[in-house]
Amino acid sequence: MSLLIIRLLVFVLVFWAGWRLWQYWQGFQNQRVEDQNGKEGHESMVRCAHCGLHLPSSEALKSGDHYFCCKEHREEFNSPDSQDDDKN
Ligand SMILES: [Zn+2]
Repeated sequence: MSLLIIRLLVFVLVFWAGWRLWQYWQGFQNQRVEDQNGKEGHESMVRCAHCGLHLPSSEALKSGDHYFCCKEHREEFNSPDSQDDDKN
C-alpha cells in the first residue's frame, strides 16, 4: 500500500515541478516583452510652437508641422487674432 502513496507523491511532485516551470517560463516571456517595450518606448521630444515647452511627442498636439503642449496654445497659434505676433 505504501507504494501507492509513493507513486501518488511522485505524481504530485512532477505535476508541481511542471507547474512551477510553466510559471517560470511565462514570467521569462513577459520580462522579455517588457524589455523590448522599454527600448522602443523611448520617444522623441517635441517643442510647443507657442510657448517653447518641451514634451514627449505622444503628449503633444500636432497641427500641420507644429506641435503644441495644450489645446489652448494650438488654438491661440492658429487663431487669426494673434496676427500682431511675429509670423515667420
Ligand atoms: Zn505651449
